[in-house]
Amino acid sequence: MIEAVGLTKRYGATTAVYNLTFQVRPGAVTGFLGPNGAGKSTTMRMILGLDNPTSGTVTVGGRPFRQAANAPREVGALLDAKAVHGGRTARNHLLSLAQLSGIPARRVDEVLGVVGLQDVAKRRSKGFSLGMGQRLGIAAALLGDPKVLLFDEPVNGLDPEGIHWVRNLMKALAAEGRTIFVSSHLMSEMALTADHLIVIGRGQLLADMGVRDFIAANSAGFARVRIPEDEPEQREKLSGVLAEAGAQVMPEPDGALRVMGLPLPRISDLAHGADVRLWELSPHQASLEEAYMRMTQSAVDFRSTQDEKAGLMEQLPYGEFRMPEAPAGGGWYVPPRPGENPYAGPSPAVAPSPSVSAAPTTPEDPR
Ligand code: ADP
Repeated sequence: MIEAVGLTKRYGATTAVYNLTFQVRPGAVTGFLGPNGAGKSTTMRMILGLDNPTSGTVTVGGRPFRQAANAPREVGALLDAKAVHGGRTARNHLLSLAQLSGIPARRVDEVLGVVGLQDVAKRRSKGFSLGMGQRLGIAAALLGDPKVLLFDEPVNGLDPEGIHWVRNLMKALAAEGRTIFVSSHLMSEMALTADHLIVIGRGQLLADMGVRDFIAANSAGFARVRIPEDEPEQREKLSGVLAEAGAQVMPEPDGALRVMGLPLPRISDLAHGADVRLWELSPHQASLEEAYMRMTQSAVDFRSTQDEKAGLMEQLPYGEFRMPEAPAGGGWYVPPRPGENPYAGPSPAVAPSPSVSAAPTTPEDPR
């Protein structure tokens, strides 16, 4: 089990992680979800003892990672990978890691088989595609047959076949009783891979719950209501009547209204009573992706425009940030503003930090 208590990391004026408390349990895939720059890699580095917390603690199996008697056999990790000696063959790269930890050579051939690299084992890794590099990094993480595995954005840049493979591997490793902690900025990916979710934004905990509960809590139903476009005063009138009846009413980008908290027949009756003509009244389901955007958007929104270039976030008083209140209808949806990309976080400042295991980077890999 991984356990963080009050984990905080500051880099000068930047607070990368603030007061994170969570547990990652064995036998499940726990997704670590948050937009770029949310603090996922920093947290993982602290778990692995590659960075010291400014305050708080994090333990693996009850002890700080640095105190582990035989670290590679207890914890394996794939972080942003930069440290592969590209001139070495895949097999030699793994052999050198194995030798450092007293792991027998036959285990190298085993893990090459697990990740499907046996046929290219004698090729130099600098010629590897991003996907092959990720597989090599995963092989390195698996070398010590560890009980705890950390993967930082393992599907970044992979093709659909590679993504499918990584997803199944995580599930299989969890089914063997291991603790699997995997980060991603993609809700869609985590919904398919993870059993449990820890969501962070701006370094702070936004949600810690089972994927099923997250889906149930965040996929609220709503109605779309459209009235004739040349009757804005009628639109106002209807919004007022619906709000008075207890609905949450929000504008849609195309001028329609999104209504939560009232059943369709009641909306129809209220419109009729107010003498407002409707062009559309249709039932909809908010998607999980929308819920995630909504949840993390409020965290991303605090980014300073001035500092965006440097990838820094505006430092508002910590502790004052709160998870937004869910509307009474249960949905989290707020339509994204036109042209807005809620995933566009600040590009992380590249910090000189050691990697636990590594796959070669390629020019198209931004990490
Ligand atoms: P994520 O992995 O979720 O994309 P990171 O943990 O990489 O997020 O980054 C969180 C924040 O901390 C970002 O604002 C990033 O710029 C900052 N940061 C990370 N590492 C360093 C560092 N070594 N020095 C300064 N700032 C850093």
